[in-house]
Amino acid sequence: MLARAVAGEAGVPFFSVSGSDFMEMFVGVGASRVRDLFATARKQSPAIVFIDEIDSIGRKRGAGVGGGHDEREQTLNQMLNEMDGFDPTEGVVVIAATNRPDVLDPALLRPGRFDRQIVVPLPDLDERLPILQVHSKDKPLDPSVDLAMVARGTPGMSGADLANLVNESALHAVRRHSVTIGMEDFENARDRVLMGQQRDTMVLMDDERERIAFHESGHALLAYVLDKTDPLHKITIIPRGMALGVTMTLPEEDRHIMSRQHLEDSLCMRMGGRVAELLVYGDLSTGAADDLQRNTELARRMVREWGMSKEIGPMAWGSNNQVFLGEDLMHTRDYSDHTSQIIDDEVERILREQEARAIEVITLHRRGLESLTRALLESETIDGETAAHLIDEAHGEPVHAQGTKTVSALNGVAKPSATPEGPAPAAAPVAPVPAAPTWQPPTLPAV
Ligand code: ZN
Repeated sequence: MLARAVAGEAGVPFFSVSGSDFMEMFVGVGASRVRDLFATARKQSPAIVFIDEIDSIGRKRGAGVGGGHDEREQTLNQMLNEMDGFDPTEGVVVIAATNRPDVLDPALLRPGRFDRQIVVPLPDLDERLPILQVHSKDKPLDPSVDLAMVARGTPGMSGADLANLVNESALHAVRRHSVTIGMEDFENARDRVLMGQQRDTMVLMDDERERIAFHESGHALLAYVLDKTDPLHKITIIPRGMALGVTMTLPEEDRHIMSRQHLEDSLCMRMGGRVAELLVYGDLSTGAADDLQRNTELARRMVREWGMSKEIGPMAWGSNNQVFLGEDLMHTRDYSDHTSQIIDDEVERILREQEARAIEVITLHRRGLESLTRALLESETIDGETAAHLIDEAHGEPVHAQGTKTVSALNGVAKPSATPEGPAPAAAPVAPVPAAPTWQPPTLPAV
């Protein structure tokens, strides 16, 4: 879209190809296509050439499992040749896009080739609002719809996600025979995008339902009681998508960095389901598999990447989840067996500490847990505010002093408040811990 906008502003012809269009079975075909493309652009100059997914041809040469790839290398070489052959006065500008700048061949990025980079991150709060406005421009919105509130409830969504959200809302409005799109349609569409379609046909046994209610109440209780977790938004035991129940928290503001305390509280909160089951039934179920997996991954990153363990200290080894390139495969482990053992021990220590903490908090608020579970079994979905009220009531006094912990609601209950960590300094963005489904069957990928 950016490349097309540039061409539109400049008022010149626009040639758009995808990197994978060059890839053919026969060696040399891709290279000749590159030649043709650039020849055409030169003839039409001034012009803009846009190559999408440049990484499919521009990958580092010599990398990859199973030896070289003649066709790709020839195509890439041809492209480098063409770009070097430009006369500065020729008036052809080449723009390319990729999601994997890290795998590009360094030769592509040299001066005179793709030497300027524009990073397009996910839109933040202020940017999501105009994106929503653009996509809902021609749609009949109900006057009650507050797009700013919708923007606040959709952290981490890309422009395409937001467009999809607006379309889903329109579909939902049609399905309930409404001529305008209301706030409930947006809320429903967002739940659908984030958590999957509601499954009306799924029949749960009563004891399963109760167990799920305790599990989700465990998460929700910790989300409310702990200081640094994101505000509690909604708890439901209606099966959605792959999840049998969901506890949702929403950040008040977009997070760019996360403090260690925030991470620890997230770990603790995700232990809540398992711990609640353990305390109530005295045994465990398969329902916490996804919680455990995500917690382990997060704890591992705290130790390996963010220097958050005393034993390992200020050392980092990067992420180990990008091994699909042959090159990375050979560099995944550059520490000793001894260090590897310490990392495992530290991960275990962090997880056990947070489990112990979850047990402590839930034991203290056992009456709140039971009150939440009863409410869930009765009405299936409760919002953050109701949950907070129930926990406070069972506790005998407010758990948090007035205004120190808000609950988050899409329909405008919570007031935006400053992030607890203060203004975020410019730092490498950290992938946010997704606030979504917490109860999933073990073998499925996270939503
Ligand atoms: Zn869970």
